[in-house]
Amino acid sequence: MLPGLATTTDSLRAEVTELLQELIRLDTVNPPGNETAAAELLRDYLAESGVESELYAREPARANLVARIPGRGDGPSFLLLSHTDTVVADPAEWQVDPWSGELRDGEIWGRGALDMKGEVAASAVAIASLARDGFQPQGDLIFVAAADEEVGYDFGLSWLCKEHPDAVRADYALNEGAGERVEFAGRPFYLCSTAEKMSSPFRLVVHGRAGHASMPGIADNALVKAAPLIERLAEYRPALRLEAETAALVEAIAGQRLEASQALDLARGLDPFAAELLEPLLSFTLSPTMISASERQNVIPSTCEVVVDCRLLPGQAQAEVEPVLREVLGEGDFDFEWLDGRGGTRSPFEGPLWDAVQSWVAATEPSAAAVPVCVPGFTDSHWLREAFGTVAYGFFPARTMDAQLAARLIHSADERIAVEDLELGVDCFRHVARTVCG
Ligand SMILES: [Zn+2]
Repeated sequence: MLPGLATTTDSLRAEVTELLQELIRLDTVNPPGNETAAAELLRDYLAESGVESELYAREPARANLVARIPGRGDGPSFLLLSHTDTVVADPAEWQVDPWSGELRDGEIWGRGALDMKGEVAASAVAIASLARDGFQPQGDLIFVAAADEEVGYDFGLSWLCKEHPDAVRADYALNEGAGERVEFAGRPFYLCSTAEKMSSPFRLVVHGRAGHASMPGIADNALVKAAPLIERLAEYRPALRLEAETAALVEAIAGQRLEASQALDLARGLDPFAAELLEPLLSFTLSPTMISASERQNVIPSTCEVVVDCRLLPGQAQAEVEPVLREVLGEGDFDFEWLDGRGGTRSPFEGPLWDAVQSWVAATEPSAAAVPVCVPGFTDSHWLREAFGTVAYGFFPARTMDAQLAARLIHSADERIAVEDLELGVDCFRHVARTVCG
């Protein structure tokens, strides 16, 4: 069943609520994904408002939807980006069925409500309602509901950028990543993600010599030799530095330019949440997360592997960080190996898209301002920036649900979104689309 189409702006609230409920009721847990079900629902919903879409799939069950209102060809294009897959949910941990889409006390419950079927629904309703209004953009207004963001095995946006670049090329884009309203020192801000850290995990392979565990003296235990290396990584505090977006964030909060160390002190003084937010933005981070050694209790391991989750600042290269890490680890019988290097791109926080986000915030809450933020995680914005130089931000505004609560619910039990925030998202996307490509 398709959600009813609203005739007035007021009833967009009911329309977006219904669409999100329908999306949540389709199980698109990745793996295996099965995003085609969501893509078909969206295609049929959009068609009722005269918006044409195409499905692109590397495998039939894993379709991406690309919809557009074609522009007149004399202005910039703008893309609303989202993904339809979700992480898994264990019903035993939830108060409601994770695929119920239940509306309770002004909130819609279910897996993906925040990450990110809520934004999928808000984007779809924004483009559908603009089409019904007769909106004729200068450049194309594009809506992409991609598959496979959560696992990233190249069925989603990375694949679209390679295989169907003309379908997803855009000058500007809004995606997930931020948008939450926060208060620092009593002033409201909306965080707009303009940059992402680079996920850059590495592995240490520590070498020893195997032997029977009943005679430790005959062996050289690689697991024991790994322990001081892990400790050195855990104790190490990287030098702090203020990247452009973090400097602007700090300046907005403090009202003046500060050094990196002063900024952290300021944040700690303001509140613990501000400090938690700021700390990973001031340096690369290291979190040892996996270890493996002997397969048997009575065999002393000859090798021990330690995997460390490492996040670099945007623009920071592995070649710059590796000598620092080798110095921290010191001498030892081990090999160091980068496992991946993904993301770490940024967009400027100036220009038409930035102005459109700011003007929406000013109109919505005159005492508030949008501030740029670098997010520690990876999003699909990276693929657009890398392939087309798209100016892409993470911005899906939320002010009804507490930002810290929302952060805890993502990828966790009892995920839900406030209907007020969903409606706010529709309003924001309509405004930004009209401003950027109207
Ligand atoms: Zn997501």
